[in-house]
Amino acid sequence: MISKLPNVGTTIFTVMSALANEHKAINLGQGFPDYSMSEALTELVTKAMKDGFNQYFPMAGYPPLLEAITEKVYRLYGTQLDPKQEITITPGGTYAIYSAITATINKGDEVIVFEPAYDSYIPNIEVNGGIAIRIPLRHPSYSIDWEAVRLAITKKTKMIIINSPHNPTGAVLRENDIEELRKIVTGTNIYIVSDEVYEHLIYDNLPHLSLLKYPELMQRTFICFSFGKIYNCTGWKIGYCIAPEPLTKEFRKVHQFNCFSVNSPIQAALATHLKNEEEYRNLSLILQKKRDYFRELMTVTPLKVIPSHGSYFELYSYERLSTEKEAVLAIRLVKECGVAVIPTSAFYQDATDNKVIRFCFAKKESTLEEAVNRIGKFKW
Ligand code: GLN
Repeated sequence: MISKLPNVGTTIFTVMSALANEHKAINLGQGFPDYSMSEALTELVTKAMKDGFNQYFPMAGYPPLLEAITEKVYRLYGTQLDPKQEITITPGGTYAIYSAITATINKGDEVIVFEPAYDSYIPNIEVNGGIAIRIPLRHPSYSIDWEAVRLAITKKTKMIIINSPHNPTGAVLRENDIEELRKIVTGTNIYIVSDEVYEHLIYDNLPHLSLLKYPELMQRTFICFSFGKIYNCTGWKIGYCIAPEPLTKEFRKVHQFNCFSVNSPIQAALATHLKNEEEYRNLSLILQKKRDYFRELMTVTPLKVIPSHGSYFELYSYERLSTEKEAVLAIRLVKECGVAVIPTSAFYQDATDNKVIRFCFAKKESTLEEAVNRIGKFKW
């Protein structure tokens, strides 16, 4: 069989989690919390099932949930959406990104991607015949070199993918980034995918500059979100895509023949639960505390922090300790130390190796303590 994705293997998240299970390691690799989710929300799902919300919901989503998202967006970003034409519920953020790319990218279209990049973006582009134009973020700040973006734009540029707070680095876009982006796309037909799944996981009093706040940019943007990251239920695989009507129309053409419609009882439960602002307003503080606790614990190890300002993740450099490749070190860490991490090279097509590994700190304090205790004993 001729593969459509000859260079793609199994995603690093699956690989590292399987290794973690095999070696009974503490899994600080794949990004998911190890603490429990809201009981009120699980009870709402049970209730929805008992109340008979067990058949297909409308293709775009359950109208009360679309309404609840509209209200939340207005409260947070002051933008009035049309729930019927501009929001689509999806089975997760990754699916939303895939659908946006599939709805727009044709053979030969160029898509600008910043590396390190979440590992689904480039295969999503390539399976559609698109060409990923990779631009490295500046290491170690992981900020965008906008001059490099300007130079990379051609007549074939169809899309730019941005991600803030950023996975895997925790970098956050600032006003000047938005302004540069605006300058670059104004007067072009370039679409944007804005991966904002970590919208509520942002620290150090930084504001989340959602593209929802910028009408001029929004008209060309698919903005992708995840409920799993808000409610500590990444395995529920539910999120949504916001895009202006003409884009949403195309998005839904792909979506309707892929999964058609998303899990009904969970949508029904979220329609009620999303009204409770407290649940997501405090997230930044809760996760920032975890980041800080982990950072403090890590000071006993010889690893050097590359400060994260958002997401579930923080990068640590071992540049001064070893020349071992990240991918090799990550395997040794699981086997010899019992801690799973993600090699940052997995987020670069050419496996750029800056001797940096990604840790997920969305864990109970006891988990973080035990993990750091083990790392402290590791032979570099
Ligand atoms: N987003 C999660 C991470 O970066 C993993 C998602 C997945 O496993 N596909 O770890």
